[in-house]
Amino acid sequence: MSVGDYPRVRLAHVHSETSLELVVFSSTTTRYSLHPLPVRRPASGVVEDVVSCGSCGTTVKIRVFSPRLRWQLKLCWFSVFLIGAW
Ligand SMILES: [Zn+2]
Repeated sequence: MSVGDYPRVRLAHVHSETSLELVVFSSTTTRYSLHPLPVRRPASGVVEDVVSCGSCGTTVKIRVFSPRLRWQLKLCWFSVFLIGAW
């Protein structure tokens, strides 16, 4: 149950998005940069913090779960998936 001290999810800043549409083909190109979330996982429960984007400085409120609570939430979502697939 080792998940690391910090979340693996990173904050993405979208720099640009371009779309190309032809008659039978379309594609979208997104340029973005990723920034780590510098909030340490708590030993138990949930911690809420405000992080800022490394590109533009916009702040975002995030929640980081303890390893045990994270595992319980994943198990819960997997159970919901199994019930839905049945
Ligand atoms: Zn940003």
